[in-house]
Amino acid sequence: MWKHNARAKPVLAMVAICAISMPLRAEWIGDARPLMGTQVSVLLWHDDPVVGEQLVADVFAEAERIDQLMSTYVEASQLSEINRRAAQEPVVAGDELFLLIRRSLDISVLTLGAFDITYDSVGQHYDFRERMRPDEATIATERELIDYRLVDLNQAAGTISFRREGVRINLGGIAKGYVVERGVDLLRMRGVRNAIVTAGGDSRLLGDRRGQPWMVGIRDPRNDGQVAISVPLENEAISTSGDYERFFEEGDVRYHHIIRPSTGTPASGVHSASVFGPDAVITDALSTSVFVMGVDQGLRLIATLPDYESIVIDDAGRIYYSDGLMQPEAQPFETPAVTDP
Ligand code: ADP
Ligand code: MG
Repeated sequence: MWKHNARAKPVLAMVAICAISMPLRAEWIGDARPLMGTQVSVLLWHDDPVVGEQLVADVFAEAERIDQLMSTYVEASQLSEINRRAAQEPVVAGDELFLLIRRSLDISVLTLGAFDITYDSVGQHYDFRERMRPDEATIATERELIDYRLVDLNQAAGTISFRREGVRINLGGIAKGYVVERGVDLLRMRGVRNAIVTAGGDSRLLGDRRGQPWMVGIRDPRNDGQVAISVPLENEAISTSGDYERFFEEGDVRYHHIIRPSTGTPASGVHSASVFGPDAVITDALSTSVFVMGVDQGLRLIATLPDYESIVIDDAGRIYYSDGLMQPEAQPFETPAVTDP
């Protein structure tokens, strides 16, 4: 009878050591799924394909969770609950949603109201797939309700209330940035060092592309599938807001999804606004803001934010860069390459 052999132990230990020191099948692992009315994609580098694929799935699950909490399209979301009741009584938001609403209102202050989550009183009357838009009378009445100062936050109670009946909020201009930021946080905490998480026009990069920067393309706003500019980035976020994402046309007027709060109509003058910097929540909100503010005002705002840069394409196809991009970067001193004799 085969008995447990004392010599088996060292053999097993040897096998284990070999397995550890053998080159592992590290590789890029990724997937894309329709989520939040757009495409969410994840690409990461991992030593273990099984773990890597699980992490990709975890990022999608996190995106889904956030969508269920914050979407106006989800009847049961906490955000929908706020929209239904906050004009009557303070509604508890939950820490995560409260914080994102507070950050949205802070960005309204920073952008002098160009970014305003209450745009939705007018915004709700658009349906781009159905080619539906509000008439003048609807815009005139609903526009009165676009004002971030109509949203009250009670920090101690964690509640949101609206000062007027009919106010509605929508986090469409900031939630995708939040999703990609959270996605990358999750991957970083689990030890991933190289990844890209994208939701529509918002991307958050973790590390580099293993030895090279990630090249993120800014789409040509009038040539589908063409890239206008490629930007090399590492460990940063980039968001692009464009009038080509969701729109329909009537004659030569393009009705698209970025609303100028002061008029309640789609913002004109810009075809695409990209912002990059350390935090995807900020780049997402700022790309929408710069789109609304236009080239001059928008780039002036970006110039006041040392960590953020912007590239804007106007309605004549001209490309503008924020100041920080124009200044040639200080070149580190490089020792001249010496070739062996
Ligand atoms: P995308 O959704 O294509 O990534 P943006 O980040 O620019 O583009 O977000 C546009 C979305 O932001 C709109 O679909 C709408 O939900 C919301 N939005 C539109 N206008 C404003 C605005 N002035 N302030 C805040 N959010 C807005
Ligand atoms: Mg945005």
